[in-house]
Amino acid sequence: MTPTPGLAPGLVSRALDLLDCGVIVLDAQACIVHWNAWLVPRCGRGAARVIGHPLIEVFTSLRGSRVEAAVQAALSYATTTAHVPDASARNPFPLRRAGNFDGDLIDQAVAVTPFDDGGERFCLIEIRDISDTSERERRLLEHAEAMRARSFIDGLTGIANRRQFDVTLTRELRRAQRADAPLALLMVDIDTFKAYNDHFGHQEGDACLIRVAQEIAGILKRPADLAARYGGEEFAAILPGTTCEQARAMAERIRAHIAALQLQQAPDACHPHVTISVGAAAFDRARLNDEAALIAAADQALYAAKDGGRNCVVVDGD
Ligand code: GH3
Ligand code: MG
Ligand code: MG
Repeated sequence: MTPTPGLAPGLVSRALDLLDCGVIVLDAQACIVHWNAWLVPRCGRGAARVIGHPLIEVFTSLRGSRVEAAVQAALSYATTTAHVPDASARNPFPLRRAGNFDGDLIDQAVAVTPFDDGGERFCLIEIRDISDTSERERRLLEHAEAMRARSFIDGLTGIANRRQFDVTLTRELRRAQRADAPLALLMVDIDTFKAYNDHFGHQEGDACLIRVAQEIAGILKRPADLAARYGGEEFAAILPGTTCEQARAMAERIRAHIAALQLQQAPDACHPHVTISVGAAAFDRARLNDEAALIAAADQALYAAKDGGRNCVVVDGD
């Protein structure tokens, strides 16, 4: 089959060969009547091998694709351009970067336009390489995701920050209220940490904070548990599915674990090693039914632990 007169070799055909996109023209039977030079190094086939052949035989992978549907529509009833693909079909044609036949498929934007000539229906397919745009888009998305993740992490200790604590507590409280499930909150504060800073210096103080934060986070094993830096040398643990008494046991485990590290404290601190005090409270529909009440109860228990000599655990209601 020879090319359609309107697109025969000549000025128009040469111009089409210079375009920076793939151009395929199909006749009413969906057979290829024009194939520009852009396509040749990207699929390894010249015009002589494909002209006159049905598109679907040249690119069998198009069978059942959106491109095939758009072509069928263009050759039967469509009157306007269809833009295939979307995010789900980034590379409908098996095209690679020029000459790189082992490389990845290029990302493509495909436009399918019907037109009539001499009483016959044709369809123009334009294929653009949008790999660079896609790559930029991917990197921007990755960057945005990294920024979002970082905005929930405490810069010093690497555990969840106050923002993540707030968001998680609200979410877990709603969940507990809906399911009538237990939920506990621990507030943890390093004992006489001012003395530590005064004696060892602020940088050593930072290193100690990092160690304690990591140890607390390391003890919490359930995926739904969250250890967060609440502020300064104060930490919080959100423990979904945990009752008041289970919270006491967990708080005691954390306290004992930190004491057992035997991190040297300042001479005028309350204990020879770094210790923590812990206050615990649990969600209670009648009394502790919102974030503020739950935090206040755990805080009060923490003050009681400080009053009780530090390096100990107090549970709301003790
Ligand atoms: P208490 O047992 O009553 O909690 O005594 P404390 O000395 O720990 O309590 P206080 O609130 O008086 O002191 C907290 C100290 O924590 C003071 C502050 O310098 C230190 N601190 C808070 N945030 C940081 C931090 O990011 N890095 C360091 N190195 N120190 C911090
Ligand atoms: Mg303290
Ligand atoms: Mg404090």
